[in-house]
Amino acid sequence: MTTTERADVAEGIDFTAIDSAIGLNWYDADPNLRQLVERLALPDDRAFAETQLRNMGGVIGGPVAARAEITDKNPPRLEKYDAWGNEVNEIVHHQSAIDTKRDLWENGFLGLRWTDGVRKTRAGHLPPVVNTGFLYFLNQAETGMACGIGMTSSAAGIVNRHAPPEIRDRFLPHLTTMDFGEAWAGGMFMTEVQGGSDLASSDCAATKTADGWRITGAKWFCSNLDAEAILTLARPDGAHPGLQGLAQFLIPKFRADGTRNGVHIRRLKDKLGTKAVPTGEVDFEDAEAYLMGAERTDDDRSARDGRGVNRMMEMVQGSRFGVALMGLGIMRRSFMEAAIYAHHRTAFGQIIASYPLVKETLVEMAVEVEAGCAIAFEAAEAGARHDAESQRLYRILVPLAKLRCTRRGIDLASQAVEIHGGNGYIENWPVARQLRDAQCHTIWEGTENIICLDVLRSMTKEHADEALFARIERALGGAEHPSLTRTASQIGRSVDEVKEAIAWIERAPQDVRLLQARRLSNYMADVAQAALLVEEAVWELAHKNSARKAIVARYFVETRLAARPLRGITSADRTVLDYFEQIVRYQPIAPHAIG
Ligand SMILES: Cc1cc2nc3c(=O)[nH]c(=O)nc-3n(C[C@H](O)[C@H](O)[C@H](O)COP(=O)(O)OP(=O)(O)OC[C@H]3O[C@@H](n4cnc5c(N)ncnc54)[C@H](O)[C@@H]3O)c2cc1C
Repeated sequence: MTTTERADVAEGIDFTAIDSAIGLNWYDADPNLRQLVERLALPDDRAFAETQLRNMGGVIGGPVAARAEITDKNPPRLEKYDAWGNEVNEIVHHQSAIDTKRDLWENGFLGLRWTDGVRKTRAGHLPPVVNTGFLYFLNQAETGMACGIGMTSSAAGIVNRHAPPEIRDRFLPHLTTMDFGEAWAGGMFMTEVQGGSDLASSDCAATKTADGWRITGAKWFCSNLDAEAILTLARPDGAHPGLQGLAQFLIPKFRADGTRNGVHIRRLKDKLGTKAVPTGEVDFEDAEAYLMGAERTDDDRSARDGRGVNRMMEMVQGSRFGVALMGLGIMRRSFMEAAIYAHHRTAFGQIIASYPLVKETLVEMAVEVEAGCAIAFEAAEAGARHDAESQRLYRILVPLAKLRCTRRGIDLASQAVEIHGGNGYIENWPVARQLRDAQCHTIWEGTENIICLDVLRSMTKEHADEALFARIERALGGAEHPSLTRTASQIGRSVDEVKEAIAWIERAPQDVRLLQARRLSNYMADVAQAALLVEEAVWELAHKNSARKAIVARYFVETRLAARPLRGITSADRTVLDYFEQIVRYQPIAPHAIG
């Protein structure tokens, strides 16, 4: 059997005609993404967006995805010393990882947004659907690689906004170039051995010398370990304890005089997954460092503006969104591999995709992917707008998307393993690695609990829930088609419940408030995803004369929000049985045909 270049045809994806997601163009093979682009890109930018995504979908679905399997089995290794016994702290990458990086850099994965061509788009910047689409593709191939690249991108943003001019001029061109030979990587080393969530306990010390700042101390989790530009937090001598006393620094791999900086790698972590990116422990020993942000001279206890953590959090908000997309990428890849396998494997004389329980799993997976895309691409759109309301929306959508997509990434990877039966548990099939990788993402950039607390914080500090509810109301505004009215009413009732729950939580004792953070955050994610699916359904009905998305939205709402007496066993809902082909193969549904 061969893979096909264009998996989609008018009748949807034919999973019997493809035997692997690898080798497909991941843009052409994703009708849901194509529809998002059609809806979200400005009309004048749509051709540009499609060209970029089709190009990247081919590169990542092809050689990058194929090499990801090789890199996973040949992870980076540390060469601490050279043959003469000199400490060199070199990370040696397999050729597969180097070739992938070259492909990504040269195709503009990072650099495109900094080019003149992008500035000439109608939006004046890289349309968020393109950038998000790039990450969504890469995370279907290997989230470890996406981690390193995401940190480089975040580092470029921080250097651009906050580095002193001479440092910005030295670093930014290397962090944003499309020339792989000139490229430098970024890292973000915050976690210390005593705690990652509790950053206030950070111990690394910064000392101001006649030659500038020097950092001493240890970091316990450092990914993209061989980055040329490391962003970190350290406490200047005499600064306040706690978060406010932490300043943000850039530590270069090489000092300004070209010698190797005082960055010593203790060892690499022996990780469960995300093998493509090296993660290790580091000692800083009088490491040359540059303060990010304003240098204050009026208060010698601080010698910085007390906003180090805020600046780090700017980066963390972006990288949290990147991790949400890691979960989403794994969801999509898991769905694809499960759907392909289920259309090839036979049991009891039939392909397993014909069995109702398998159909239900595949429908669940497809619906989750679309709900995940809905919240993630909406977050990206909000983040690209600069008005206060959009920024508050972005503030809350990022933790909600991370909460939802990283947890569902594990769930869907596990379901994909299950659909593969015993083969799924074996490493020469593509889904075992997805499950190993997925487990990292609920932890990276804030554990699930910390993310739920962040949702609470976004509400108490910025009233971000108000922006979310306003957005939900707008999303439901156009739901007048008969296929959507019941669904929209149910969402409306659920939104009222969420508001009631928030009011109750606000009055609850602090321990109860904290206890309910996860339940509340999950409920908020459910209503947000449901409303955004309805908005997509309205668009699809109007522009495609199809009610497929209305069915997806209805199924999501019936299974997540509506009451399910007898656990749904006696429900009359036949969506899985009657619309399996249309949902899983992305086929249109005539609006008048809906039961
Ligand atoms: C592969 C990998 C790569 C990493 N790379 C990096 C990197 O490049 N840079 C970096 O800075 N870090 C990195 N990390 C570290 C990661 O960000 C931390 O592991 C994470 O933030 C959690 O911190 P911790 O491990 O210290 O866990 P802890 O903070 O000790 O948390 C342990 C448990 O306690 C829970 N918990 C803690 N506080 C609370 C609370 N107030 N309420 C409820 N529950 C709570 C947590 O949810 C968690 O379940 C990496 C981690 C991994 C696994």
